[in-house]
Amino acid sequence: MKSNKDYRFATRAVHAGQEPDPTTGAVMPPIYQTSTYAQEAIGVHKGYDYSRGVNPTRTVLEANIAGLEGAKHGAAFASGLASIEAVIKQFSAGDHIICGANVYGGTDRMFRRVFAKLGLDFSFVDTRDAELIREAVREETRLILVETPTNPLMHITDIAAAAAIAHEAGALLMVDNTFATPYFQRPLELGADAVMHSTTKYLNGHSDVIGGIIVTSNDELAESLHFMQMATGGVPSPMDCWLVLRGTKTLHTRMEVHQASALRIARWLEEGGRTRGVFYPGLPSHPQHELAKRQMSGYSGIVSLELGSRGQAEDLCRKTRIFALAESLGGVESLISHPASMTHASVSPEHRAKLGITDGLVRLSVGVEDVDDLIEDLDQALGDAP
Ligand code: PLP
Repeated sequence: MKSNKDYRFATRAVHAGQEPDPTTGAVMPPIYQTSTYAQEAIGVHKGYDYSRGVNPTRTVLEANIAGLEGAKHGAAFASGLASIEAVIKQFSAGDHIICGANVYGGTDRMFRRVFAKLGLDFSFVDTRDAELIREAVREETRLILVETPTNPLMHITDIAAAAAIAHEAGALLMVDNTFATPYFQRPLELGADAVMHSTTKYLNGHSDVIGGIIVTSNDELAESLHFMQMATGGVPSPMDCWLVLRGTKTLHTRMEVHQASALRIARWLEEGGRTRGVFYPGLPSHPQHELAKRQMSGYSGIVSLELGSRGQAEDLCRKTRIFALAESLGGVESLISHPASMTHASVSPEHRAKLGITDGLVRLSVGVEDVDDLIEDLDQALGDAP
Protein backbone atom coordinates (compact mmCIF):
# COMPACT_ATOMS: atom_id res chain seq x y z
CA MET A 1 0.00 0.00 0.00
CA LYS A 2 1.41 3.38 -0.99
CA SER A 3 1.62 6.01 1.70
CA ASN A 4 -0.33 9.23 1.41
CA LYS A 5 2.61 11.24 0.10
CA ASP A 6 3.02 8.95 -2.92
CA TYR A 7 -0.37 9.98 -4.28
CA ARG A 8 -1.21 13.09 -6.27
CA PHE A 9 -3.37 15.89 -4.89
CA ALA A 10 -6.77 14.78 -6.23
CA THR A 11 -6.30 11.26 -4.90
CA ARG A 12 -5.27 12.62 -1.50
CA ALA A 13 -8.29 14.94 -1.49
CA VAL A 14 -10.63 11.96 -1.79
CA HIS A 15 -8.73 9.44 0.33
CA ALA A 16 -6.22 11.03 2.74
CA GLY A 17 -7.00 10.04 6.31
CA GLN A 18 -9.94 7.91 5.23
CA GLU A 19 -10.17 4.15 5.43
CA PRO A 20 -13.44 2.20 5.33
CA ASP A 21 -14.90 2.16 8.86
CA PRO A 22 -13.45 -0.93 10.60
CA THR A 23 -16.68 -1.81 12.40
CA THR A 24 -19.12 -1.70 9.45
CA GLY A 25 -17.07 -1.20 6.29
CA ALA A 26 -18.80 2.17 5.67
CA VAL A 27 -16.85 3.74 2.82
CA MET A 28 -17.53 7.28 3.97
CA PRO A 29 -16.35 8.22 7.47
CA PRO A 30 -19.30 8.14 9.86
CA ILE A 31 -20.43 11.17 11.84
CA TYR A 32 -19.50 10.06 15.34
CA GLN A 33 -22.17 12.15 17.02
CA THR A 34 -21.17 11.24 20.54
CA SER A 35 -19.77 13.17 23.45
CA THR A 36 -18.29 10.17 25.24
CA TYR A 37 -17.05 6.58 24.77
CA ALA A 38 -17.53 3.42 26.87
CA GLN A 39 -14.35 2.28 28.60
CA GLU A 40 -13.59 -1.41 29.18
CA ALA A 41 -12.09 -0.63 32.58
CA ILE A 42 -10.95 2.56 34.22
CA GLY A 43 -8.60 4.23 31.78
CA VAL A 44 -8.82 1.36 29.25
CA HIS A 45 -10.31 2.62 25.99
CA LYS A 46 -9.72 2.74 22.26
CA GLY A 47 -7.98 6.11 22.27
CA TYR A 48 -11.23 8.05 22.53
CA ASP A 49 -12.49 9.15 25.93
CA TYR A 50 -14.31 12.49 25.57
CA SER A 51 -15.16 14.42 22.39
CA ARG A 52 -13.77 17.77 23.49
CA GLY A 53 -10.35 16.12 23.44
CA VAL A 54 -10.79 13.74 20.52
CA ASN A 55 -13.51 12.57 18.15
CA PRO A 56 -13.08 10.08 15.28
CA THR A 57 -14.77 12.27 12.63
CA ARG A 58 -12.51 15.15 13.66
CA THR A 59 -9.47 12.86 13.55
CA VAL A 60 -10.29 11.95 9.94
CA LEU A 61 -10.71 15.62 8.97
CA GLU A 62 -7.41 16.54 10.61
CA ALA A 63 -5.58 13.76 8.77
CA ASN A 64 -7.24 14.67 5.48
CA ILE A 65 -6.27 18.36 5.50
CA ALA A 66 -2.81 17.58 6.88
CA GLY A 67 -2.45 15.22 3.90
CA LEU A 68 -3.41 17.98 1.46
CA GLU A 69 -0.88 20.42 2.91
CA GLY A 70 1.88 17.80 3.21
CA ALA A 71 1.85 18.08 7.02
CA LYS A 72 2.21 15.39 9.68
CA HIS A 73 -0.50 16.73 11.98
CA GLY A 74 -3.75 18.72 12.02
CA ALA A 75 -5.80 20.24 14.83
CA ALA A 76 -9.32 21.40 13.97
CA PHE A 77 -11.16 24.19 15.77
CA ALA A 78 -14.63 25.70 15.81
CA SER A 79 -13.69 28.61 13.51
CA GLY A 80 -10.73 30.06 11.67
CA LEU A 81 -10.30 32.61 14.45
CA ALA A 82 -10.45 29.90 17.14
CA SER A 83 -7.62 28.12 15.35
CA ILE A 84 -5.45 31.27 15.31
CA GLU A 85 -6.37 31.83 18.96
CA ALA A 86 -5.15 28.33 19.84
CA VAL A 87 -1.76 29.15 18.33
CA ILE A 88 -1.49 32.52 20.04
CA LYS A 89 -2.30 30.91 23.40
CA GLN A 90 1.01 29.03 23.11
CA PHE A 91 2.70 32.32 24.02
CA SER A 92 2.98 34.39 27.19
CA ALA A 93 2.84 38.04 28.19
CA GLY A 94 5.94 39.81 26.89
CA ASP A 95 6.23 37.62 23.78
CA HIS A 96 6.22 39.45 20.47
CA ILE A 97 4.28 38.52 17.35
CA ILE A 98 4.72 40.00 13.88
CA CYS A 99 1.48 40.06 11.92
CA GLY A 100 0.80 41.11 8.34
CA ALA A 101 -0.74 44.59 8.24
CA ASN A 102 -3.45 43.55 5.78
CA VAL A 103 -4.81 40.39 7.41
CA TYR A 104 -8.50 39.51 7.75
CA GLY A 105 -10.17 42.18 9.92
CA GLY A 106 -11.18 39.65 12.58
CA THR A 107 -7.58 38.52 13.05
CA ASP A 108 -6.50 42.14 13.48
CA ARG A 109 -9.35 42.74 15.96
CA MET A 110 -8.49 39.65 18.05
CA PHE A 111 -4.85 40.68 18.32
CA ARG A 112 -5.47 44.35 19.10
CA ARG A 113 -8.52 44.01 21.34
CA VAL A 114 -8.09 40.66 23.06
CA PHE A 115 -4.46 39.55 23.17
CA ALA A 116 -2.72 42.94 23.40
CA LYS A 117 -4.65 43.43 26.69
CA LEU A 118 -3.14 40.21 28.01
CA GLY A 119 0.39 41.51 27.51
CA LEU A 120 1.32 40.06 24.14
CA ASP A 121 3.06 42.52 21.90
CA PHE A 122 2.15 42.83 18.21
CA SER A 123 3.81 44.57 15.28
CA PHE A 124 1.68 44.98 12.17
CA VAL A 125 3.95 45.01 9.17
CA ASP A 126 3.57 45.23 5.41
CA THR A 127 4.91 41.73 4.82
CA ARG A 128 5.13 42.31 1.04
CA ASP A 129 8.54 43.74 1.89
CA ALA A 130 10.72 41.09 3.57
CA GLU A 131 13.08 43.81 4.85
CA LEU A 132 10.24 45.31 6.90
CA ILE A 133 9.66 41.90 8.50
CA ARG A 134 13.36 41.64 9.31
CA GLU A 135 13.40 45.13 10.85
CA ALA A 136 10.44 44.25 13.08
CA VAL A 137 12.13 41.19 14.60
CA ARG A 138 13.10 41.46 18.29
CA GLU A 139 14.61 39.11 20.79
CA GLU A 140 11.10 38.33 22.08
CA THR A 141 9.66 37.54 18.62
CA ARG A 142 8.03 34.11 18.74
CA LEU A 143 5.72 34.07 15.71
CA ILE A 144 5.38 35.68 12.31
CA LEU A 145 1.86 35.38 10.85
CA VAL A 146 1.28 36.22 7.22
CA GLU A 147 -1.79 35.95 5.06
CA THR A 148 -1.01 35.49 1.37
CA PRO A 149 -2.81 36.46 -0.78
CA THR A 150 -4.42 38.93 1.61
CA ASN A 151 -8.05 39.72 2.16
CA PRO A 152 -9.15 41.82 0.22
CA LEU A 153 -6.18 43.51 -1.48
CA MET A 154 -4.44 40.38 -2.80
CA HIS A 155 -1.04 41.37 -1.46
CA ILE A 156 1.50 38.55 -1.72
CA THR A 157 4.20 37.72 0.82
CA ASP A 158 7.33 35.79 -0.18
CA ILE A 159 6.81 32.75 2.06
CA ALA A 160 10.35 31.36 1.70
CA ALA A 161 11.88 34.74 2.60
CA ALA A 162 9.56 35.13 5.61
CA ALA A 163 10.41 31.59 6.76
CA ALA A 164 14.14 32.32 6.59
CA ILE A 165 13.70 35.46 8.70
CA ALA A 166 11.54 33.63 11.24
CA HIS A 167 14.00 30.79 11.61
CA GLU A 168 17.00 33.10 11.95
CA ALA A 169 15.10 34.74 14.81
CA GLY A 170 14.17 31.40 16.40
CA ALA A 171 10.49 32.11 15.70
CA LEU A 172 7.76 30.19 13.88
CA LEU A 173 6.20 31.22 10.58
CA MET A 174 2.48 30.56 10.22
CA VAL A 175 0.69 31.21 6.93
CA ASP A 176 -3.04 31.85 6.62
CA ASN A 177 -3.62 29.83 3.44
CA THR A 178 -7.38 30.35 3.36
CA PHE A 179 -7.44 32.22 0.04
CA ALA A 180 -5.08 30.01 -1.97
CA THR A 181 -5.93 26.60 -0.45
CA PRO A 182 -3.40 23.74 -0.57
CA TYR A 183 -4.49 23.11 -4.15
CA PHE A 184 -2.71 26.29 -5.28
CA GLN A 185 -0.15 26.92 -2.54
CA ARG A 186 1.61 24.72 0.01
CA PRO A 187 3.46 26.95 2.48
CA LEU A 188 5.08 24.09 4.42
CA GLU A 189 7.01 23.15 1.27
CA LEU A 190 8.31 26.75 1.19
CA GLY A 191 9.56 26.60 4.78
CA ALA A 192 6.55 27.66 6.89
CA ASP A 193 6.09 25.88 10.22
CA ALA A 194 2.31 25.94 10.34
CA VAL A 195 -0.62 26.66 8.05
CA MET A 196 -4.03 27.84 9.14
CA HIS A 197 -7.32 27.76 7.31
CA SER A 198 -10.69 29.16 7.85
CA THR A 199 -12.32 25.90 6.67
CA THR A 200 -15.48 28.00 6.49
CA LYS A 201 -14.21 29.07 3.07
CA TYR A 202 -12.88 26.96 0.17
CA LEU A 203 -12.08 23.77 2.08
CA ASN A 204 -15.71 23.29 3.03
CA GLY A 205 -16.78 25.20 -0.05
CA HIS A 206 -20.54 25.18 0.43
CA SER A 207 -21.11 28.05 2.90
CA ASP A 208 -22.77 25.85 5.50
CA VAL A 209 -20.08 25.50 8.19
CA ILE A 210 -17.89 27.70 10.38
CA GLY A 211 -14.57 26.00 11.09
CA GLY A 212 -10.81 26.28 11.25
CA ILE A 213 -7.70 24.14 11.30
CA ILE A 214 -3.95 24.35 11.93
CA VAL A 215 -1.67 21.87 10.18
CA THR A 216 2.00 21.43 10.95
CA SER A 217 4.84 18.92 10.91
CA ASN A 218 6.19 20.36 14.16
CA ASP A 219 5.47 17.60 16.72
CA GLU A 220 5.73 19.91 19.71
CA LEU A 221 3.32 22.48 18.29
CA ALA A 222 0.87 19.75 17.26
CA GLU A 223 0.90 18.24 20.72
CA SER A 224 0.34 21.59 22.27
CA LEU A 225 -2.57 22.35 19.90
CA HIS A 226 -4.23 19.05 20.79
CA PHE A 227 -3.74 19.97 24.43
CA MET A 228 -5.44 23.32 23.64
CA GLN A 229 -8.44 21.49 22.13
CA MET A 230 -8.88 19.58 25.37
CA ALA A 231 -7.89 22.39 27.74
CA THR A 232 -9.82 25.30 26.23
CA GLY A 233 -12.45 23.52 24.17
CA GLY A 234 -12.91 25.55 20.98
CA VAL A 235 -13.56 22.45 18.90
CA PRO A 236 -15.87 21.79 15.92
CA SER A 237 -18.87 19.46 16.05
CA PRO A 238 -18.64 16.01 14.42
CA MET A 239 -21.30 17.08 11.91
CA ASP A 240 -19.29 20.15 10.89
CA CYS A 241 -16.12 18.05 10.55
CA TRP A 242 -18.00 15.70 8.29
CA LEU A 243 -19.34 18.52 6.14
CA VAL A 244 -15.83 19.96 5.67
CA LEU A 245 -14.59 16.47 4.76
CA ARG A 246 -17.27 16.22 2.13
CA GLY A 247 -16.05 19.56 0.82
CA THR A 248 -12.36 18.66 0.63
CA LYS A 249 -13.15 15.66 -1.60
CA THR A 250 -14.01 18.05 -4.45
CA LEU A 251 -11.57 20.85 -3.57
CA HIS A 252 -9.42 20.33 -6.68
CA THR A 253 -12.38 20.33 -9.08
CA ARG A 254 -13.99 23.41 -7.51
CA MET A 255 -10.74 25.37 -7.36
CA GLU A 256 -10.12 24.87 -11.08
CA VAL A 257 -13.50 26.44 -11.87
CA HIS A 258 -13.17 29.23 -9.27
CA GLN A 259 -9.83 30.26 -10.71
CA ALA A 260 -10.68 29.95 -14.42
CA SER A 261 -13.81 32.06 -13.91
CA ALA A 262 -12.05 34.59 -11.65
CA LEU A 263 -9.29 35.06 -14.21
CA ARG A 264 -11.83 35.63 -17.00
CA ILE A 265 -13.76 38.11 -14.88
CA ALA A 266 -10.60 39.93 -13.79
CA ARG A 267 -9.46 40.28 -17.42
CA TRP A 268 -12.93 41.37 -18.53
CA LEU A 269 -13.10 44.00 -15.79
CA GLU A 270 -9.62 45.29 -16.57
CA GLU A 271 -10.30 45.56 -20.30
CA GLY A 272 -13.74 47.07 -19.79
CA GLY A 273 -12.43 50.31 -18.30
CA ARG A 274 -15.40 50.72 -15.94
CA THR A 275 -13.29 50.28 -12.79
CA ARG A 276 -10.32 52.21 -11.41
CA GLY A 277 -8.34 49.10 -10.59
CA VAL A 278 -8.64 45.33 -10.52
CA PHE A 279 -6.76 43.32 -7.89
CA TYR A 280 -6.09 39.72 -8.91
CA PRO A 281 -2.66 38.04 -8.61
CA GLY A 282 -3.23 36.19 -11.90
CA LEU A 283 -3.20 39.45 -13.88
CA PRO A 284 0.19 40.51 -15.29
CA SER A 285 -0.69 44.04 -14.06
CA HIS A 286 -0.65 42.82 -10.42
CA PRO A 287 2.57 44.29 -8.97
CA GLN A 288 3.53 40.92 -7.48
CA HIS A 289 2.41 38.70 -10.35
CA GLU A 290 5.90 37.19 -10.77
CA LEU A 291 6.13 36.24 -7.08
CA ALA A 292 2.60 34.82 -7.18
CA LYS A 293 3.57 32.75 -10.23
CA ARG A 294 6.63 31.46 -8.42
CA GLN A 295 5.05 30.34 -5.17
CA MET A 296 1.48 29.50 -6.25
CA SER A 297 0.27 27.11 -8.93
CA GLY A 298 -2.96 29.12 -9.43
CA TYR A 299 -4.56 32.33 -8.22
CA SER A 300 -7.85 31.23 -6.67
CA GLY A 301 -11.28 32.80 -7.00
CA ILE A 302 -11.26 36.21 -5.31
CA VAL A 303 -11.18 39.42 -7.33
CA SER A 304 -11.31 42.90 -5.80
CA LEU A 305 -12.10 46.05 -7.74
CA GLU A 306 -11.85 49.73 -7.03
CA LEU A 307 -14.81 51.80 -8.16
CA GLY A 308 -13.73 55.18 -6.84
CA SER A 309 -16.52 56.02 -4.42
CA ARG A 310 -18.79 54.50 -1.81
CA GLY A 311 -21.81 55.44 -3.93
CA GLN A 312 -20.58 53.41 -6.87
CA ALA A 313 -19.63 50.48 -4.64
CA GLU A 314 -23.10 50.54 -3.07
CA ASP A 315 -24.67 50.71 -6.49
CA LEU A 316 -22.84 47.62 -7.73
CA CYS A 317 -23.57 45.66 -4.53
CA ARG A 318 -27.27 46.53 -4.84
CA LYS A 319 -27.64 45.72 -8.51
CA THR A 320 -26.03 42.30 -8.91
CA ARG A 321 -28.55 39.47 -9.16
CA ILE A 322 -26.42 36.33 -9.03
CA PHE A 323 -23.65 37.73 -6.81
CA ALA A 324 -25.34 37.91 -3.39
CA LEU A 325 -24.31 40.72 -1.04
CA ALA A 326 -22.86 38.79 1.90
CA GLU A 327 -19.86 38.31 4.17
CA SER A 328 -17.56 35.33 3.53
CA LEU A 329 -16.11 33.73 0.42
CA GLY A 330 -15.02 30.46 -1.08
CA GLY A 331 -18.41 28.80 -1.56
CA VAL A 332 -19.91 27.39 -4.74
CA GLU A 333 -22.10 30.50 -4.99
CA SER A 334 -20.82 33.91 -6.05
CA LEU A 335 -20.78 36.63 -3.41
CA ILE A 336 -20.09 40.35 -3.47
CA SER A 337 -18.99 42.36 -0.45
CA HIS A 338 -17.90 45.80 0.64
CA PRO A 339 -14.79 45.21 2.80
CA ALA A 340 -14.72 48.69 4.42
CA SER A 341 -18.14 48.17 6.00
CA MET A 342 -18.22 44.38 6.22
CA THR A 343 -15.12 42.14 6.66
CA HIS A 344 -12.87 45.05 7.67
CA ALA A 345 -15.36 47.20 9.59
CA SER A 346 -13.46 46.38 12.79
CA VAL A 347 -10.27 47.91 11.37
CA SER A 348 -9.96 51.62 12.18
CA PRO A 349 -10.74 54.02 9.29
CA GLU A 350 -7.18 55.44 9.49
CA HIS A 351 -5.63 51.98 9.26
CA ARG A 352 -7.99 51.04 6.41
CA ALA A 353 -7.01 54.20 4.54
CA LYS A 354 -3.32 53.40 5.03
CA LEU A 355 -3.84 49.90 3.66
CA GLY A 356 -5.89 51.03 0.67
CA ILE A 357 -9.18 49.47 1.77
CA THR A 358 -11.18 52.38 0.43
CA ASP A 359 -14.92 52.98 0.48
CA GLY A 360 -14.93 52.31 -3.26
CA LEU A 361 -13.40 48.83 -2.94
CA VAL A 362 -15.60 45.82 -3.68
CA ARG A 363 -14.64 42.15 -3.32
CA LEU A 364 -16.02 39.35 -5.45
CA SER A 365 -15.93 35.70 -4.47
CA VAL A 366 -16.38 34.03 -7.84
CA GLY A 367 -18.44 30.86 -7.54
CA VAL A 368 -18.82 27.88 -9.85
CA GLU A 369 -21.86 29.13 -11.78
CA ASP A 370 -21.59 29.61 -15.55
CA VAL A 371 -19.02 32.35 -15.99
CA ASP A 372 -20.95 33.94 -18.88
CA ASP A 373 -23.93 34.42 -16.56
CA LEU A 374 -21.62 35.97 -13.97
CA ILE A 375 -20.14 38.38 -16.51
CA GLU A 376 -23.61 39.35 -17.76
CA ASP A 377 -24.64 39.96 -14.16
CA LEU A 378 -21.67 42.27 -13.51
CA ASP A 379 -22.21 43.94 -16.88
CA GLN A 380 -25.81 44.88 -16.11
CA ALA A 381 -24.92 45.92 -12.56
CA LEU A 382 -22.02 48.13 -13.63
CA GLY A 383 -24.28 49.70 -16.24
CA ASP A 384 -22.64 52.78 -17.70
CA ALA A 385 -20.25 53.30 -14.77
CA PRO A 386 -17.58 55.73 -15.93
N1 PLP B 1 -8.60 34.16 7.64
C1 PLP B 1 -9.15 34.66 6.50
C2 PLP B 1 -8.27 34.96 5.33
C3 PLP B 1 -10.52 34.90 6.44
O1 PLP B 1 -11.06 35.40 5.32
C4 PLP B 1 -11.32 34.62 7.59
C5 PLP B 1 -12.77 34.89 7.57
O2 PLP B 1 -13.29 35.58 6.70
C6 PLP B 1 -10.71 34.11 8.73
C7 PLP B 1 -9.35 33.89 8.73
C8 PLP B 1 -11.51 33.81 9.97
O3 PLP B 1 -12.19 32.61 9.80
P1 PLP B 1 -13.59 32.27 10.51
O4 PLP B 1 -14.59 33.23 9.97
O5 PLP B 1 -13.82 30.84 10.11
O6 PLP B 1 -13.37 32.43 11.97
